[in-house]
Amino acid sequence: MIHVYDGKKTCTGCGLCAFVCPKKAIAMEPDEEGFLYPRIDTDRCVDCGLCRKRCPNQPDKIEKQRHPLSSLAAKNSDQVRENSSSGGIFTALSDTMLQEGGVVFGAQLMEDGQVCHTMAATADQRDRMRDSKYVQSDITSCFDAISQALAAGKTVLFVGTPCQTAAVGAAFPNDRKASKLLLCDLVCHGVPSPRVFSAYRQQLLKEQSGAVKGLAFRSKKAGWSCRAVTIETGGGEKSSFLLDDRYFRLYFAGLITRPCCHACIYTNLHRPSDITIGDCWGEAVRDLSIYDELGLSLVLIHTQNGMDLFGKAQKSISCEEIRLRDFMQEQLQKPSRAGESRAQFWKEFQSKSFKKVLQKYTLTGFTGKVHRVSGAVQRLLKNKEGNHA
Ligand SMILES: Cc1cc2nc3c(=O)[nH]c(=O)nc-3n(C[C@H](O)[C@H](O)[C@H](O)COP(=O)(O)OP(=O)(O)OC[C@H]3O[C@@H](n4cnc5c(N)ncnc54)[C@H](O)[C@@H]3O)c2cc1C
Ligand code: SF4
Ligand code: SF4
Ligand code: SF4
Repeated sequence: MIHVYDGKKTCTGCGLCAFVCPKKAIAMEPDEEGFLYPRIDTDRCVDCGLCRKRCPNQPDKIEKQRHPLSSLAAKNSDQVRENSSSGGIFTALSDTMLQEGGVVFGAQLMEDGQVCHTMAATADQRDRMRDSKYVQSDITSCFDAISQALAAGKTVLFVGTPCQTAAVGAAFPNDRKASKLLLCDLVCHGVPSPRVFSAYRQQLLKEQSGAVKGLAFRSKKAGWSCRAVTIETGGGEKSSFLLDDRYFRLYFAGLITRPCCHACIYTNLHRPSDITIGDCWGEAVRDLSIYDELGLSLVLIHTQNGMDLFGKAQKSISCEEIRLRDFMQEQLQKPSRAGESRAQFWKEFQSKSFKKVLQKYTLTGFTGKVHRVSGAVQRLLKNKEGNHA
């Protein structure tokens, strides 16, 4: 019997195999960590091998590029950047696509705490995709939706992690060639487990007696480089904000990331997309004339289609050419490392209360040193208005 993938490090959970299977014999199902993997229904499978053949996550399928066509630092207006994780370039690119009658696919945090890719045909729908969600986004329903949008004559912009853009590009190669499908990927440190995020969200609800009104991963209320979840409690005039860094501690300690992220084949400059966006960080950033504290995007353009899209978006943004070697953050050079206690973390996650596990693993910080034990939840701002840190 055929296996679609050889071990968890080789499967990104993109779902392309399920989309292409002619017998609809593949279901994407969560494992004990909450990450989706393909499962074959052997009664339906006819051993045709198409699922393996089309799987995009294979090193020999990566198109080697020498250098991006253009490397830039860029930023949108202050108002857009206040609501974006970085320099707001996703908004500029998607605005351009929407203004031309196209549609945009991006990740959205749903009311129930799930993160999945949805389609936007208006700016309001697109705005819900802003903010980096540190949870793997489910793109499995996108293949049909993209197929329908393309069949209806729409131009599509898909924005996601490189493994997701690789899958979408591999699903619709002719539309890529015909410039009807544009791909924008993110510089990517790896995606955390939906199951841990769900447990964390439940824990927050308990701690706040159910009064959580909103949650953002990369709010700039405490500054652009703040690595903490911002939780809004109350509502309207009485809104308060709390900062909690526990979830990010688990993430940066390499405990909750998808296994394939630690063997990622996209943490380099050979990108499966037209444009790459990320945070423009590094020592040289302060020397840029457009630098400020509200967020700056790194933009790498790889194709002529990418140049055309960015050229149109450029009207609404400021940008400056950069020397790429000054901005080669780690995620453009090698995969992030799994934490030494990853296996132990998951053993305890399955058998103990999440409160206990969270407490234990967030007392030990990134370097193994003991960090402060304040519960890591700080009341940062008393009032929503007038308190931007
Ligand atoms: C899990 C993750 C890890 C990242 N790691 C790095 C890193 O190591 N270094 C770096 O420079 N940048 C990283 N980024 C990218 C960075 O945080 C910004 O998302 C990016 O620069 C875009 O910023 P913006 O202001 O233009 O977009 P915003 O307006 O903030 O929009 C965010 C965009 O990201 C997409 N997105 C959000 N969450 C997800 C998700 N879970 N899966 C797929 N797509 C998503 C949305 O669809 C939207 O297009 C990461 C992003 C994510 C989601
Ligand atoms: S990487 Fe994608 S296509 Fe390949 S096996 Fe995993 S889910 Fe299927
Ligand atoms: S071998 Fe063919 S029929 Fe079987 S799961 Fe893969 S694509 Fe489907
Ligand atoms: S680190 Fe690599 S495998 Fe993991 S989500 Fe990002 S692009 Fe995909």
